[in-house]
Amino acid sequence: MTPSDYDVAIVGGGLAGATLARSLAGSGLRALVIERVIAFKDRVRGEGMLPWGRAEATALGIDDLLDTAGAVEIRYWKRYIGGAPRDCRDLIETTPGRQGCLDFYHPAMQRQLLDAAEAAGAHVRRGVEFTAVECGSPATLRMRGAHGEERVTARLVVGADGRCSKVRTSAGFTVKRDEHSLMIAGVLHEGLKLPGNTVQYVQNPAEGRAALVFPLGEERFRSYFVYSSKNAPRTMSGNGHAGDFVTSCIETGAPAEWYENAEAAGPLAAYPGADTWVAHPYRDGVVLIGDAAAASNPAWGCGLALTLRDVRVLRDHLLANDQWDQAARAYAREHDAYYAALHRVQSWFTLLMYETGPAADARRAHVFPNLAREPARAPDMLALGPDTPSDEAARRRFFAEDVV
Ligand SMILES: Cc1cc2nc3c(=O)[nH]c(=O)nc-3n(C[C@H](O)[C@H](O)[C@H](O)COP(=O)(O)OP(=O)(O)OC[C@H]3O[C@@H](n4cnc5c(N)ncnc54)[C@H](O)[C@@H]3O)c2cc1C
Repeated sequence: MTPSDYDVAIVGGGLAGATLARSLAGSGLRALVIERVIAFKDRVRGEGMLPWGRAEATALGIDDLLDTAGAVEIRYWKRYIGGAPRDCRDLIETTPGRQGCLDFYHPAMQRQLLDAAEAAGAHVRRGVEFTAVECGSPATLRMRGAHGEERVTARLVVGADGRCSKVRTSAGFTVKRDEHSLMIAGVLHEGLKLPGNTVQYVQNPAEGRAALVFPLGEERFRSYFVYSSKNAPRTMSGNGHAGDFVTSCIETGAPAEWYENAEAAGPLAAYPGADTWVAHPYRDGVVLIGDAAAASNPAWGCGLALTLRDVRVLRDHLLANDQWDQAARAYAREHDAYYAALHRVQSWFTLLMYETGPAADARRAHVFPNLAREPARAPDMLALGPDTPSDEAARRRFFAEDVV
C-alpha cells in the first residue's frame, strides 16, 4: 500500500464529517477534517431528528454529545389539515425504539461534535477550504487556508461538504435532481405560544403548502414554510420578509395566535426542496456521505437521520474490512438501496400532500378517508425511515388502490 499522510481526509465538519471523524479517530485511524467555517452560526439547517435517526445516533455513540449540545426530546407530533387539528401522535408510545423526535440548535450540535472529533484524536482544521481532489490510491486533497495552498494524501477522501458539495463535482460524480419545485423557508423564532414538547405540522394539500414548528428548548422554535416556487406567495429570503413568512404560515392554516409575539432570532432563508443525489457515491478513493451523497427533501425531515445512517454504514464497513476500496463499494451499494427506498416513499407523500389541481384533489378525496379509517396504510417514515415497506404492495395500499 502506498504511504499516505492520513487514513481518511474528510471535507466538512457538519453532522456527517464530525461524527465520522470522531468514530474513526476513536478507533485509532489517522483522520483529518477540514472545515471552512471557524465559528458556526445559524444558516437554517435541520434541527429535528426523527425517531429512526435516534437509533443511528445511539449506534454511533453520540447521544450524550447531543444532550450536552442542548438537545430536547419531543414526544408529540401534531398534524393539522388546513386549520383543523387532524391527529396527535405520541412518538414514545408508538415507535419501536420508544423514542421521540430529538431537536437541537444546529450550530450547537456542530460545535459539540467537531470538538468531540478533535478530542478523539482527529486533526481538525477550521478556516480551511477545499479546492480540489484527485482520485486514486492514495487520493490527493487540495485545500486553501491561512497558510495558502496545501495538499495532503489519504487512503480515502470523504466528501461531507453538504448539499452543494464541491468534492462531488471535483471527483466527477453525476448529480441527479428531482423535478418538483417545492421550496422550504426557515427562521429561528422566539416568543411562539406553543408547548415545548410537540412538533406542529400544518398541511394544506389543496394549495400545496405546509407550515411546521419544531421546539428547540429555552422558548426557541424553528419555523418552516414549505411551498411551490411556481406559485410562490411572497419572497421568503432575507429578514425584511419575516412578516411575510408569518403571514404565509397563517394563510396555510397555522393559528394566528401562535405568532402573536413572534420574533425572528436568526436569518430567514429559503432553499430548493427537490432531492439531489448521486448513484453509487464512491469512486476510486473518494466517497460521499450526508447531503453530499443525497440531500432529501427537507419537507420530510429525514436529512439528519439519513446522514447518520450513512456515517454508521460507512464506519462499519471501513472498520470491518481493511480493503477500503471494497469497503467503500459495499457502503455505496447499501446507500443506493436505502436511499432509493426513502426516496420512493417520500415521492408518494409529496404526490399526495403537495400536488395541486383536480386530479390531485380527486386522489386525496379517495385516499384520505381510507387513511383515516386505517392509519397503518401509510408508510411509517417517522419511525422507520427507509426500513418502512416501500414495495409495490405498500404503494397500492397507501394510495388505497385495493379499495374501489
Ligand atoms: C431548510 C432546511 C431544513 C431542514 N430541516 C431538516 C429537519 O427538520 N430534519 C432533518 O432531519 N433534516 C433537515 N434538513 C437537512 C439537514 O440539515 C441535512 O441533512 C444535514 O445538515 C446534512 O449534514 P451534512 O453534514 O451532510 O451537511 P452540512 O450540515 O451542510 O455540513 C457540511 C459542512 O461542510 C462545510 N463545507 C462546505 N463546503 C466546504 C468546503 N468547500 N471546504 C470546507 N468545508 C466545507 C460546511 O461549512 C459545513 O460545516 C434541512 C435542510 C434544510 C436546507
